[in-house]
Amino acid sequence: MEILKTVKEVQKFVQTQKELGKTVGFVPTMGALHEGHLSLIRQSRAACTITVCSIFVNPTQFDDPADLEKYPRPVERDINMLESEDCDALFLPSVEEVYPESLDAGETYDFGFIDKPMEGAHRTGHFDGVAQVVNRLLEIVQPTHLFMGQKDYQQFKIIDRLIELTKRPTQLVMCAIVREEDGLAMSSRNVRLNPDARAKAVTISQTLRQVKAGFGHKSIVELKKWGFEQLERVDGMSVDYFEIVDADTLKNIDEATESQQVIACAAVRVGGIRLIDNILLKVN
Ligand code: AMP
Repeated sequence: MEILKTVKEVQKFVQTQKELGKTVGFVPTMGALHEGHLSLIRQSRAACTITVCSIFVNPTQFDDPADLEKYPRPVERDINMLESEDCDALFLPSVEEVYPESLDAGETYDFGFIDKPMEGAHRTGHFDGVAQVVNRLLEIVQPTHLFMGQKDYQQFKIIDRLIELTKRPTQLVMCAIVREEDGLAMSSRNVRLNPDARAKAVTISQTLRQVKAGFGHKSIVELKKWGFEQLERVDGMSVDYFEIVDADTLKNIDEATESQQVIACAAVRVGGIRLIDNILLKVN
């Protein structure tokens, strides 16, 4: 695997591949890799000739400096995992390489409503940082395909819109959520859960699954209330939000129409760690 640390190096690598007619799949990550990330690498390898992964803990998307500081960075381990997956290249830039001028958001985008609710309401400036870094990484790497996880569903919708707004010729692919055996969605933050918090965290995916089982039998209003209460009543757990929304507009709904896709999304804090998860309730 090529380890490329500068913009020049990665651009030369990708350009050469594209001139040979190869498709280039790109998997941006913040490292501390787990099976969820590896599933993205595998999907990219299955769909594209060349796969480039990036590891960059983007400072501009953290609203909490302590969270940024504590974000795990096991780089050697990550490199070994990517090598085992036969990833072709790792882009491992410094902050200065990604943001040579300043960390200011620079260009901001009009996402309409989709960056307002849920994560947008609870993490000020988070999506401006996400859009800034993904736009910058796409500008640098210029992949033919971009692989992102449903785990960060709202982020996925925002990047979809970003690609549309910036008219980039990149195909965005959504990858399913990879879970631990007990159902907890894999996350780089899971390693920071103490045993008590880890045991409690399983209620997030359990609740989402139960809400899905109740969908169509109970009203959306009832399910939303039930889901919120179910999580909130776990000792030491606090719910940032539990929403059931239109999966396309992310607007709150009380009832679903025939053609609507519906998703339940949750963010909770447990043992000082913030976890998110979601489940599609209705797909067309
Ligand atoms: P992160 O390193 O957390 O920024 O995540 C990098 C990419 O991996 C994003 O597109 C995430 O949505 C995706 N991802 C994170 N966790 C999972 C998971 N459990 N299953 C599938 N994809 C994931």
